[in-house]
Amino acid sequence: MLAVHSSPVGELGTQDTGGMSVYMRELARELGKLGHRADVFTRRRDPAETESVRMFENVRLLRLQAGTNGELHKLALCPHLGEFCRELERFRAREGIRYDIIHSHYWLSGLVGSWLRDRWGAPHVILFHTLGALKNAIIEPEPGLRMTHEKRLACSCDRVVATTAREKGYLVRAYGTSPENIGVVPCGVDLDLFRPEDKEKARQRLGFDPEDPLVLFVGRLAPLKGIDRLLAAVGLLQHRCRLRLVIIGGSGGDTPETRRLEALSEKLGIREQVVFLGRIEHGELPPYYNACDVLVLPSHYESFGLVALEALACGTPVVATRVGAMPELVQEGKTGYLAADGSPWSISRAIESVLHGRLSLSADGIRATVLSYGWARIASGVEREYRIALGLRGLRRGQGQGKGESGGEGEAFLAPAARGCSAPPCRRELV
Ligand code: UDP
Repeated sequence: MLAVHSSPVGELGTQDTGGMSVYMRELARELGKLGHRADVFTRRRDPAETESVRMFENVRLLRLQAGTNGELHKLALCPHLGEFCRELERFRAREGIRYDIIHSHYWLSGLVGSWLRDRWGAPHVILFHTLGALKNAIIEPEPGLRMTHEKRLACSCDRVVATTAREKGYLVRAYGTSPENIGVVPCGVDLDLFRPEDKEKARQRLGFDPEDPLVLFVGRLAPLKGIDRLLAAVGLLQHRCRLRLVIIGGSGGDTPETRRLEALSEKLGIREQVVFLGRIEHGELPPYYNACDVLVLPSHYESFGLVALEALACGTPVVATRVGAMPELVQEGKTGYLAADGSPWSISRAIESVLHGRLSLSADGIRATVLSYGWARIASGVEREYRIALGLRGLRRGQGQGKGESGGEGEAFLAPAARGCSAPPCRRELV
């Protein structure tokens, strides 16, 4: 598994570390539980970091040198991808491993994956997490380099995993990916961690007033997340002077983005109502979801929107713009509302409807709508995509990864139960 720019063990809620890291971590954990062996490769940030650490049963995290130490901007990583590939190949040869599947995350890792695929002949599966073509159309101008490579990867990888049917549609329309090469597997949620608990107790524990209406935002403090329009929406709810907006995420402390959002709250006359809590450890988030009346996801763009799933698993209603998986996840009038046009006004109306108690489902009822999103089930879906990719590339298996060197090691990647499974027939024209 390739996670070049964003570590699966990075600090969630900071600039480049969010849903993608959670996804890689949870997927790797479940694949390990299924008996597969997975190596997750990321860039080493600190020379003191050990190269190989055990993440979970059957899963290792490998940190490889690529460029200078410390954080590097995503584009600044490009000239160092060759070094990353060489380090990875050196590691593989030293350990005598033959990998059966290459799964890359994000287009940067995709570049490494496509190089390894050409060298090893192993199938390359990609999950983009975000699509440059869409971000371009919405808010952030994406570099031409990304657009060119992403398009090429979307058409040349053995299998593309999309997390929603909408994303599949975008891949077909924007990049010309062949629909039969795309599998749709949603993101998941840790149903043991995120579960309903008593709202009063949660508030007491966190020091929130039991009477205040509480609106929650969780995520990276990035323009794409639309926090500006959430602040404006709160500004439109002036009659609810006790309403509090709790903002979780960001690097914490006095960052330019926090300062900008604080200044905007001041300008809107709601500074007293907004609480910036900074980054909160993932495992500590459940009481926040439980203490609040509604989670708002006001994003301009999401590929999926994990925080909405986490809130729903806690039985907390969601108000969201029509992004990512929201049309599938949010059941209008039952588990939350979709803000019709994404304007501050429509967001404020939707919040108001939740606070008025207009939803028909209880916390347990809300949770019940997402019980099919446990990570074990999601990992089985991804495993199915791997099998399809293995079937498609079956004729090239074993090529290039030092046959004989590996001592059949690669076979161990597939769980015993899985080895006997029949993959779809080989598509010779694609091999
Ligand atoms: N998150 C966290 N602590 C924070 C902020 C965010 O653990 O302070 C986690 C959050 O629980 C979710 C992920 O980061 O699992 C964000 O994923 P999402 O899909 O909502 O957004 P992305 O970062 O992918 O844009």
